Amino acid sequence: MNAMSALTWMEEELASLEEASLKRSLRESYTVPGSPGRMFRGTGSRSLLNLSANDYLGLSQHPAIIEAMREALLEEGLGAGASRLVTGNRKAYAKLEEAIAEWQNCEAALVFGSGYMANAGVIRSVVGRGDVVFSDQLNHASIVDGILMSRAELVRYRHLDMEHLEAMLHKHRDKRRKLIVTDAVFSMDGDQARLHELKLLKHEYGAMLMVDEAHSGGIYGRHGEGLCHELGVKDEVDIHIGTFSKAFGAYGAYVCGSRTLIDYLVNKARPLIYSTAMPPALLAGIAQALALVQQDHWRRERLGSAVRFFRSSLKKSGFLIPTGDSAIVPIIIGDNETALRFSAALEENGIAAVAIRPPSVPEGTARIRFSLSAAHTDKELRDAAARIRQVGLQFGVLGR
Ligand code: PMP
Repeated sequence: MNAMSALTWMEEELASLEEASLKRSLRESYTVPGSPGRMFRGTGSRSLLNLSANDYLGLSQHPAIIEAMREALLEEGLGAGASRLVTGNRKAYAKLEEAIAEWQNCEAALVFGSGYMANAGVIRSVVGRGDVVFSDQLNHASIVDGILMSRAELVRYRHLDMEHLEAMLHKHRDKRRKLIVTDAVFSMDGDQARLHELKLLKHEYGAMLMVDEAHSGGIYGRHGEGLCHELGVKDEVDIHIGTFSKAFGAYGAYVCGSRTLIDYLVNKARPLIYSTAMPPALLAGIAQALALVQQDHWRRERLGSAVRFFRSSLKKSGFLIPTGDSAIVPIIIGDNETALRFSAALEENGIAAVAIRPPSVPEGTARIRFSLSAAHTDKELRDAAARIRQVGLQFGVLGR
């Protein structure tokens, strides 16, 4: 058999993805210097309003971050050259981790290469064969992958259904270690975990609680500490995770908790042990972004008013959107092909808002997921809301 024929099955699978409007391909996008809320796409000469990015606070092009990175790059070069436990643990790590722990008011923090690595690495470290993980059905894929890699039993409870979770906790009450894990704000629906109830269940059943603040870190809490702080449950969360890839406009992730947890992860978390340390310039950029996230309250306020305006405009137009106050606002279209055409129609109207399809969301719930940024202006959002309404009318999806 030659190499070509050995891969025929892939061609067949790709063809069936295409058939079901589920094939993905990489499209180029370009930044618009000075306008983090906009982007160029393909060969188009006019910029689009970017309603699909997670640069929630509009920090991705901040001059102070770029300058901090430039200085570190000149001083330290690009790559760290080795993993942290070998020789890659540059001094910027300790400084950043101390700043994160202070910001989060926790004993210790640990930086990971990405949110995906943090979720996968942490879960695999804290549970294993004979343990059980209770995971909201709509948790992010990196959480699910971490559980699968851990070989612990995966129990998916219905989305936000605390009765179902309690029944499952009861059923598995005699298991060795139990971990409840949830997104704080769900990435595809923009709704929130029931953190108060999770806190009570965790205590009742002697489970650990892990919360992923990917879409809430930087946004909720007085200094952007996250939803757990805002709701006053932070001290009940054993493992607190957030990313630098969204509100911080950067890349990387943090884990916060007790000194014991962090020491344990340094010994057990495979993405930390077996992957090269982060580029020092990136650590410098993140440190600067963290300072801005804490100081720039106006960015959270601006995002908040953009969210309120956008959500109420879509509702007034007749779209059915989930309740909440997060910066993620989905409109459910249903079938994959229509969602793709809807997205293309938005692009013709100057709006970048991609169609999200299975397996990222459940079958039959393909959607346009809008995400807002403090960088979007009132005028941009007013125009966008009017155009989205027009496209909604054209596709007959209002009121559905
Ligand atoms: N958790 C959630 C809830 C996410 O939405 C994402 C990003 N899509 C991640 C984790 C992964 O974070 P990162 O992009 O930093 O790998």
